[in-house]
Amino acid sequence: MASYEPIRTDIPKLGFGFMRLPMKDHDVIDIEQVKKMVDIFLNRGFTYFDTAYVYNNGKSEEALRESLVERYPRDSFQIATKMPLWAVNSPEDYEVRFQESLDRLGVDFLDFYLLHNLSGDRIDATENLGGWDFMKKIKEDGRAKHIGFSFHDTAERLDEILTKHPEAEFVQLQINYADWEDSKVQSRLCYEVARKHGKPIIIMEPIKGGSLAALTPEISDMFKKSNPEMSVASWAMRYCASLDGILTVLSGMSNLEQVLDNTEYMSDFRPLTDSEREVIAEVVEALNSIPTIPCTDCRYCVDDCPQEIGIPRIISTINEYTLYNNLPGSQRGYSFATGRGGKASDCIECGTCESHCPQQIEIINAMKKAAELFE
Ligand code: SF4
Ligand code: SF4
Repeated sequence: MASYEPIRTDIPKLGFGFMRLPMKDHDVIDIEQVKKMVDIFLNRGFTYFDTAYVYNNGKSEEALRESLVERYPRDSFQIATKMPLWAVNSPEDYEVRFQESLDRLGVDFLDFYLLHNLSGDRIDATENLGGWDFMKKIKEDGRAKHIGFSFHDTAERLDEILTKHPEAEFVQLQINYADWEDSKVQSRLCYEVARKHGKPIIIMEPIKGGSLAALTPEISDMFKKSNPEMSVASWAMRYCASLDGILTVLSGMSNLEQVLDNTEYMSDFRPLTDSEREVIAEVVEALNSIPTIPCTDCRYCVDDCPQEIGIPRIISTINEYTLYNNLPGSQRGYSFATGRGGKASDCIECGTCESHCPQQIEIINAMKKAAELFE
């Protein structure tokens, strides 16, 4: 059954991200709590759920089946999940991974299906392995109502992809007020590219992995002074939901309290006023004035490191920790930063990197600090 319905624009502006679910005994999802969270979310009028093949090693998709699919009519919610591009080595793998997701979720179609993190080397690999043909096929046969991709790369690359693949119906972007003008994340530039191509945007990381809910007391007070009733996280969510062309804003909720807070202010959503925007601009200014390690990401230090340590990404994680004081979030960032190379503690203090660094950063000390904080 072919399915060519346009993307609904009336989806409520808060989506439930199933990537940071409550756990018990360290590695088991607390499904009873998840069911209560889902109940509140739906009862308050929200309908969009976002998961991925890879979240919680596949357990997130199963948790969505148990807490949602098996308990509510299929037409009362939308499900989005994602193709793990790093687990695709041949054209046949697309079908295998896709079917695994359908089986785990207990559904025979998805409302939204995404190529997960279509960035860097995966952009060409997806072209070469027929990833886009596969996406068109599942749209054609009705197993995915809408197809798109999530993205963490430059605005220039986003423009290339959207020019080449007009069949992508939407994009999922990392957008938040702290990254809006960030030269690496490029939230604003990517947003503008998506708008230029007329693509609805799903926002991920509106609270920057929890960091914008864990600001220093001085910065949190700037929000509290303006409105003592509103949570610090709500400013970040409303910033995103106030943008034009947004399909929904995902929040990876981890407990009942977060669901209650998010659903309360988003049920009665008010776009930011001009004076509220000014408060956010002041907060961004305050964040920018906190001293951090002045790494420009030039990468001159990287090639000759005998331990293949991803120095700039590790430094960026230290800086995030300095700014937001969010240890779990920074530890997650650190494990991404060290996923493909050496850890900070692998540094043998040879000093090669420091001799290449135009900013004269004390990289060896920075690696010691990262090892202490994050390992
Ligand atoms: S000092 Fe450490 S981080 Fe720098 S090049 Fe040597 S091993 Fe790599
Ligand atoms: S050389 Fe210095 S400024 Fe450039 S990426 Fe490395 S640490 Fe950062």
